[in-house]
Amino acid sequence: MRRLMAPFISLMLALGLFAVGAEAADKIRAVTTTTDLKALTEVVGGDLVDVDSLARGSQNPHDLEVRPSLMIKVRRADLLILNGLELDGWAEVVIQGANNPNVIPGAPGRVDASQGIMVLEVPTSRVDRSMGDVHPVGNPHYTVDPGMAPAITANILGGLARVAPQHRSVFERNRTQFLGRLDEAMTRWSALLEPFKGGKVVVDHNMWPYFLTRFGLVQAGSIEERPGIPPTPTHLVNLIALMKAEHIKVVVMVPWADQKLAERVAQEAGAKAVTLANAVGALKGTDTYIDMLDYNVKTLAQALR
Ligand SMILES: [Zn+2]
Repeated sequence: MRRLMAPFISLMLALGLFAVGAEAADKIRAVTTTTDLKALTEVVGGDLVDVDSLARGSQNPHDLEVRPSLMIKVRRADLLILNGLELDGWAEVVIQGANNPNVIPGAPGRVDASQGIMVLEVPTSRVDRSMGDVHPVGNPHYTVDPGMAPAITANILGGLARVAPQHRSVFERNRTQFLGRLDEAMTRWSALLEPFKGGKVVVDHNMWPYFLTRFGLVQAGSIEERPGIPPTPTHLVNLIALMKAEHIKVVVMVPWADQKLAERVAQEAGAKAVTLANAVGALKGTDTYIDMLDYNVKTLAQALR
């Protein structure tokens, strides 16, 4: 199988090169690893960029299958925007296969969107990756917290302005307008969740500490024993006991985790399970960054009622 893949990849890359020649050359071609970063790059870049995401919104962003089609996307990119914090470690394999000098480590067309983010849950002792923990350098799910958008869009703006310095003022204006809209929405979201301050929820995958903390909510436990590691029966028994003891009424699920298990845990504990959008486009009605937040805040507020 591996022997057959090499010529196939070469052929696909050659086709990719031809396609570049035929494409309109005036737009900046940006590739992001996740749909959250795609949405935020589109608001900063506006009409000047063409953005493609390697992962789809409903996919588990920790674990993407590296396919030649992803390498072709990166091969054509002027700008590559990564989540960082080892969420999208698979992208390194894609980048190697793409052989695009614009986006190799240290190149101006490469952006780590996590630069300057205050990272939560940084391990105090060395985490052994062989144990399977998928958050070895801290929690990488900062993009679902709207309070992180100013920092993320600043990093994106920096990258865009490096590859197209003549458009810097346009990017700055786009970003300022977006952050204004986000501020208005933030007031609305804070008001919706205000009555539930201090409220506790249980999650399936540990991806909500930034989001929950922003709105004064508490993640009391997770179904996965450690991120990426399925629970033992003992862990589930303890979790259900905790939920009963602390009257935790909500289990937050993501579309790509084991929803049957989350629903069973919720049922045993007398709670309800709700699905939140783990990324832009993960669920119907979550196709922009602000729509995703609207959906998540409203769904959570309703469940906590
Ligand atoms: Zn995770």
